[in-house]
Amino acid sequence: VMSSSTSSLANSTCTDGKARSNRIINLDHGNPTVYGKYWRQSGDKTNIIIRGWQSMSYFTDVSNICWFLEPEFANEVMRLHRVVGNAVTGGRYVVVGTGSSQLYLAALYALSSSHAAQPINVVCAAPYYSSYPTMTDYLKSGLYKWGGDAETYEKDGPYIELVTSPNNPDGHVRTSKVNRSEGLLIHDLAYYWPQYTPMTSPADNDLSLFTLSKITGHAGTRIGWALVKDKEVAKKMTKFIELNSIGVSKDSQLRAAKILSAVSDSCEQENSQEGDSFFKFSQKLMTNRWKQLREVVNRGELFSLPQFSPAFCNFFNQVLEPQPAFVWLKCEGNVEDCESFLREHKILTRSGRHFGVSPKYVRISMLDTDENFSHFIDRLSSI
Ligand code: PMP
Repeated sequence: VMSSSTSSLANSTCTDGKARSNRIINLDHGNPTVYGKYWRQSGDKTNIIIRGWQSMSYFTDVSNICWFLEPEFANEVMRLHRVVGNAVTGGRYVVVGTGSSQLYLAALYALSSSHAAQPINVVCAAPYYSSYPTMTDYLKSGLYKWGGDAETYEKDGPYIELVTSPNNPDGHVRTSKVNRSEGLLIHDLAYYWPQYTPMTSPADNDLSLFTLSKITGHAGTRIGWALVKDKEVAKKMTKFIELNSIGVSKDSQLRAAKILSAVSDSCEQENSQEGDSFFKFSQKLMTNRWKQLREVVNRGELFSLPQFSPAFCNFFNQVLEPQPAFVWLKCEGNVEDCESFLREHKILTRSGRHFGVSPKYVRISMLDTDENFSHFIDRLSSI
């Protein structure tokens, strides 16, 4: 999430006007602090009390495949998918993880074979989420290894393909690219929620990953889940988490259950006295940010933005345009290294290089605080 060069800069805060133009704006990581405003105004509704004697056991339900899965949490996951309509839940096993990051590794473990002669290749079309290559290779596993860009992957035999939709970093809706018979797919649906992209149909995949981090902004709770069709895959993923961390924090699952339940409640109570649902609130917020950004970028010729096609959103019942969690900004003209160029203007971003493409591109978070976002817009318009 944080590179060592940026973490020391991330905390600098300045208040006066001169300092405002000097301060470092760190939008390198995707820390989803933007939603803090919504949760602050929702008051006590999302508080939980955990007494000293509760949540103590390692075990939750040893008769369940995922034996550390809290039933309240699983119920709220199923309920939210039903309310939003973004995933088929029938015939699926839920596996909870310490963030979807842990589930990504669990999925690699589950889909690879312990008696294969060679590690299985893991591919994703560029630009891909910058953590996939590093997470895949940092332990130099004998089971799987990073195989690079799916667009140019031509090897025979089994492979694992990651399909991130909408994609981090560029926000586009994606389908698999390699399409060979021995392919195993992991769908990373971290951003398949109504504030980011139209809900066109419920996802119906073999293995989909979701994370609380990008839905509600509770990244620090470290909760994600997988919807898994195949029982053996669900069992193996659970085994990985057992070996890796003997389960997943119950405290976090209970907190996540409460927050997800508040989100579903807000959708079901919309149009009553309660005001906007969480998704309506966050969708408006993203619309407003993208509008400001497009205005500034379109004023000059230095930068360009991706274009998206509108689609009918079954959740909001209207045609909407995607408004991704990241800006995939391209430096036009003769600026070759967009990250360095923006760093000269004290805007920290992540270079296209980390996503397997040209340094003419950078990824910029759209999920930071209002304050940081408004500094960013001011700074960009002054370049
Ligand atoms: N997948 C994608 C595409 C992401 O952008 C992120 C967060 N940056 C993750 C997975 C990991 O999220 P977490 O571990 O917080 O669930």
